[in-house]
Amino acid sequence: MFEITKMIRRFITKLNAFALPRDQQEPALPGHEFRCAQCDLLQKMDAIYAGQGASCARCGHHLCSVPLNPFDTPLAYALATLILLVLSCAFPLLNLRIAGVESQMTFLSSAKSLVDADFGIVANVLLSCVLLIPALFLCAVIYLAVALKWSLHWPGLRSVLRLAIRLEPWMMADVFVIGILVSLIKLAMLAQISFGLSFWAMLLFAISLIKTVTVFDVHWFGFQLDHLAGLPARHLRMNGAKSCTVCGFFNARQAHQCERCHARLHSRRPHSVSITWALLLTAMLLYLPANLYPMMITESWGESTPSTILEGVLLLWRMGSYPVAIIIFVASVVVPLVKFISITVLCIAARSKSKQGALHYTRLYRMTELIGRWSMVDVFVVVILVALIHMGKIMSVLPGVAAVSFAGVVVLTMLAALSFDVRLIWDADQRAEK
Ligand SMILES: [Zn+2]
Ligand SMILES: [Zn+2]
Repeated sequence: MFEITKMIRRFITKLNAFALPRDQQEPALPGHEFRCAQCDLLQKMDAIYAGQGASCARCGHHLCSVPLNPFDTPLAYALATLILLVLSCAFPLLNLRIAGVESQMTFLSSAKSLVDADFGIVANVLLSCVLLIPALFLCAVIYLAVALKWSLHWPGLRSVLRLAIRLEPWMMADVFVIGILVSLIKLAMLAQISFGLSFWAMLLFAISLIKTVTVFDVHWFGFQLDHLAGLPARHLRMNGAKSCTVCGFFNARQAHQCERCHARLHSRRPHSVSITWALLLTAMLLYLPANLYPMMITESWGESTPSTILEGVLLLWRMGSYPVAIIIFVASVVVPLVKFISITVLCIAARSKSKQGALHYTRLYRMTELIGRWSMVDVFVVVILVALIHMGKIMSVLPGVAAVSFAGVVVLTMLAALSFDVRLIWDADQRAEK
């Protein structure tokens, strides 16, 4: 009975803490000045309490959203995601049965079949984007959360924070899951297919990874790093000028290196537009072989049928798989073209002297960043088909040259978007206003 009373009392205390007026709670982030990393506007952020977030007043750039348990939530999600990652490699992803012959595919066997077919580059992209980069990111989140929760002065905390931020755009577990579903629909007419145990682990891994990214608040983690190093007071009010494009920290005008994450600082990224142009043009050149050469080659009873991206889409359309045909067409043809056009528009807008609509261009930039990874779907579909269909004479699928070029297009357009300094758009906008 005494135990029950204690439990009720503890529960009421917790409820009271929850219902405590804001002014009696400790803010997770005290009010401070910051310069927006996308539009460069100097502004003041009010104190942020756990469960709240903040965005830029001018361009809407997301600055932070602190979860209710800022230490425990990311730590718990990162640990769970890491376990799911191991499980998604341990068992078969898909089982296939054609004409009485069975075939199984695990995540690692899909990479091995690419290496066997002399497509090591695509295997590297697959292993990095679906396995290694998420694993590194999760380890980084766990390292930071453990060190900060228990105030441990572990080495390299600032570099680990920078690493986690830099790795984030390159994680493609969700794209791989969509790739599995697309291949499944593609194969459903030819063969009997069933999900392996690892498919469900992979699905949960992809969802849990997205959740880990959303609860890992870079701004709050950075603030805790400063707190650990005994620097909070300097952070609160500082007559600074340069904001770090990696972690968003507000640095002094004369600083060359970010105080928080040690990234190199520039008031504007040097040669940003030229580098973006160079990457974009290379991607455009690679887009030609990606469409002209076969994406995959199907061999059946001694007959080999190569198919390019568009041929694959047309075949699916004729077979009546309209949704898959539309997904592949959008991911492989529409998305790359939209990226080419939007990055070109952004580069022209950054150089132009008289124009308006910086907010629209910034939204266009965010959209380009957001859709970047999704073109990889078709490459992953080829990878899955190659791994799954290797039944000697009955039917085998081999990757085509276009798979390498297309993976190159996706990586280069992502690099082009990342190397573009979006603040240049607002500089041009301010020039136009003068
Ligand atoms: Zn802004
Ligand atoms: Zn920084």
